[in-house]
Amino acid sequence: MNLNILRCLVAVTALGLTVPGLADDDVQRLVAAMLGDTPVIDDLHELTDTIGARPTGSDANRRAVEWAARKFRQAELTVSTEDFTMPVVWQENFVTASIDGDASFEIGAVAKPFSAAAIALEASLLDAGLGTPENFQQLGDAASGAWLLVETPILDDVVGLAGLFKEYEDAVAIETRAADARAAGVAFMSSRPKNLLFRHNAGAGIANALPLLVLEREQAQRALRLLRSGQSLQMTGSIGAVTEANQTATNVIAEIPGNSRAEEIVLFGAHLDSHDLGTGALDNGVNVVMLINVARQLTRLGLRPERTIRFALWNGEEQGLVGSWKYTEQHESELDNHIVAASFDIGSGRTTGFFTGGRPDLVRLVDLYLAPVAGLGPFQQIDIPLVGTDNFDFMIEGVPNLIAIQSDANYASNYHAESDTFDKVDQHQLRLNSAIAAAVIWGFANDAARLPRMSQDEIAALIDGTDLEQQMRNMAVWDGWANGMRGRR
Ligand SMILES: [Zn+2]
Repeated sequence: MNLNILRCLVAVTALGLTVPGLADDDVQRLVAAMLGDTPVIDDLHELTDTIGARPTGSDANRRAVEWAARKFRQAELTVSTEDFTMPVVWQENFVTASIDGDASFEIGAVAKPFSAAAIALEASLLDAGLGTPENFQQLGDAASGAWLLVETPILDDVVGLAGLFKEYEDAVAIETRAADARAAGVAFMSSRPKNLLFRHNAGAGIANALPLLVLEREQAQRALRLLRSGQSLQMTGSIGAVTEANQTATNVIAEIPGNSRAEEIVLFGAHLDSHDLGTGALDNGVNVVMLINVARQLTRLGLRPERTIRFALWNGEEQGLVGSWKYTEQHESELDNHIVAASFDIGSGRTTGFFTGGRPDLVRLVDLYLAPVAGLGPFQQIDIPLVGTDNFDFMIEGVPNLIAIQSDANYASNYHAESDTFDKVDQHQLRLNSAIAAAVIWGFANDAARLPRMSQDEIAALIDGTDLEQQMRNMAVWDGWANGMRGRR
């Protein structure tokens, strides 16, 4: 998940909304099964505690692919593992940061993905305040060739998603200012307390050339106090990371064939990969096991949908939304028959509705399909297009697409951090969210309603009529659309 989703979550206030209709026996049995005794928590334990962190390109990621394929096979789905090529994979091996000068100590640190990858750099450490334009103005020429220490506001459960959104936006702007000032590198104070480390991708993505570190908060505050009391410090930052082009990664695709309209596909996905800090529980193991469990209960109950239900566990999401992009290329000939493509990627907070991507007709359908679980609401759809997560390439292919909206809970404070582990998942809410997802899946799989795929002109009009271009530029995916590498042609 990324900053565009965050911006919208921050603005969400749930309104009551219930719609009558579509409550047959099958969906009631399915919903009841999701709320009952299932192996979903055991699955989460295996994926997060046994397999653990699974960044694309790692051995653990390959084990996760085998694990997920086995789970779907055990649930008696048809499974294919579909390879694709990552443009670039970035992996950190080690990072060190040490302070010398008027004081001498080590600081725990990580690099931001797509940071300059192999450096050992000693330079003056300067107080860059909060990294505002005024801070850079005060630094003037001194910023050139120096490590810039940037202070950050704390991000905890009280600040929540609003703080996370600001953290992302500020970092993108600060990295641009630092590059313009020809800084040697940027050392961000971790926004998380108790020396907790996290990482977000460099704002410029694979185009970034600056060394970018995140430093343990308490140690970074010590350095800042020293600098502000007039002492002089140098920092040596070493980043041992590798960037590799053209690595193979794998999506796991599993399906239950449709009874009467098998050629029509309803696609429900979550990304299997994670960052390497923590074990990817909230982001996004919880939604991976949720979809596996919906698949399992569908076959266990012997429920046969009219349309084909396809489950997709994406890879390469954290490093550029790559797996879902490559799927749209590999399955281009089927996209006209994709009725919907939905993504689940916002932790284990309560599902409050779906982002419907700028398609009012889709709001009406989702309202209808949520009716059988109205008691787990209220729900409210938000009809705006978001670059967000693995919905993106479906959106610019014109396929109706959804992102589940979930309440903040503890998502932001653990996001991309060492603390994103099994114990952070709300197990009760996971079961409720599973019931909500199952109702929507069953609705799309059986209702006769069908929205057309948007033409290239309609997609262009959607981009022109919204802030999509800015979102795409922020996410470094605009060029892919503009030069015809991504999206409908
Ligand atoms: Zn995610």
